[in-house]
Amino acid sequence: MWADLSKPAGNVYIVPPAVIASIAMYTRVPSLLSIFLASGALAQVPPAEDLRLYDIGRAADAARIEADITTLVGFGTRHSLSETESDERGVGAARRWIRSQFEAISADCGGCLEIMLIGDTISGENRIPDPTEIISVIAVQRGSADPNRMVMMSGDIDSRVSDPMNFTDDSPGANDNASGMAGVLEAARILTQYRFPGSIVYAGLAGEEQGLWGGKIVAAHAREQSWNLDAVLNNDMIGNIAGINGIIDNHSARIFSEGVRAAETEEEATLRYRTGGEVDSASRNLARYVQRVGEQYVPNLDLTMIYRLDRFGRGGHHRPFNKAGFAGIRIMETNEHYDRQHQDLRNEDGRHFGDTLEFVNFDFAAKLTSLNAVALAAMAWAPAPPAQVQIEGMVSADTTLSWEMGDDPQLAGYRVYWRPTTAAQWTHGRYVGKVDHFMLENIVIDNYFFGVASVAADGNESPVVFPGPAGAF
Ligand SMILES: [Zn+2]
Repeated sequence: MWADLSKPAGNVYIVPPAVIASIAMYTRVPSLLSIFLASGALAQVPPAEDLRLYDIGRAADAARIEADITTLVGFGTRHSLSETESDERGVGAARRWIRSQFEAISADCGGCLEIMLIGDTISGENRIPDPTEIISVIAVQRGSADPNRMVMMSGDIDSRVSDPMNFTDDSPGANDNASGMAGVLEAARILTQYRFPGSIVYAGLAGEEQGLWGGKIVAAHAREQSWNLDAVLNNDMIGNIAGINGIIDNHSARIFSEGVRAAETEEEATLRYRTGGEVDSASRNLARYVQRVGEQYVPNLDLTMIYRLDRFGRGGHHRPFNKAGFAGIRIMETNEHYDRQHQDLRNEDGRHFGDTLEFVNFDFAAKLTSLNAVALAAMAWAPAPPAQVQIEGMVSADTTLSWEMGDDPQLAGYRVYWRPTTAAQWTHGRYVGKVDHFMLENIVIDNYFFGVASVAADGNESPVVFPGPAGAF
């Protein structure tokens, strides 16, 4: 039976369904399998869930996150202009400690992390007038099948108080953003216990408060090195559950994403204007993906997509990745407390100001860390998002999607999605097997938005890709 399968394509063999199922699960047999799938005779649909993700969705440990945030706060200040010689205080001590944590995690997984410092010397800028090294600490868990395909989780190393140039006063930055940094370390501890076909990048980014410098430098490095970086999950403030408005909420979070790609060319904008895509950038479909898997696999978590790049007038480290053409989102708490952000530590008439440890909820930070871990694992297990996705159907009752057939070993097939134009999340989908095009009969192109995702035999899917340059990953 196995020998028969290696015969040239074009011959049709009669193979019992059980054998097809097991082949679909474990191997690539494109010619034979595609005959069955294309004919609709026997499309083996991968499972809807991956049970491993339920474990990952509750794996983050609040006590370890508390310990790491406490250590980061203990460096006094992590301001980007602070001293770098001391091992007790300042941004140099903080980044060396982060590196040592990655090294310890790597030692526990047989050296599974490649640890690198990616930095540059910045000067002559508003918030960095004198030459200053901005050094991010990055750990890469290389994928077994497609090591250059990456998904990244990021947090930030640095902190600030009221005056962005004050690099001497205590600046705990417990929530902003030791919480995100601790989440990155914890996600690395969880996910290094698994193996993935794609790579996962754990990033401690530097210089966020001085102008998003670490993100700019790492995004430029990723471009130079031709990283196939499909997703950046930027975590910035994932530990506050008490809003300045009095709301206490430990079970919801926000996902911010750009609607139109920042890196769009004029030509691409003209095409988008005629055919759509203003709410379907890769970043937006990454946001939809994180919402879907998060609500599926992380207990008691409600995720709200915010259809904007970031909070009004404010910034974060996903932005430089978007500008460099990568899909990236911001994950954060729903309710912010502005007395506890970028504030000198003080008490005014009984009112506390300052981003101190006692206001971080470690269970909540653990929940959002689990959210990241689930999304990273699902994407790293999934095949690459489909490339060259196209759509046709003008003045027709039918809509046809096409794409380039992937060669990922875990690829089982594709799922085509569509939704009403005002729906936030994909509402309809159907598995179409291992084909490179599919016609949706009697579904009019004008009345829906469409996309396609790659599906692995274990059920893990890529994010949905909207057709054309507007949605390409
Ligand atoms: Zn900040």
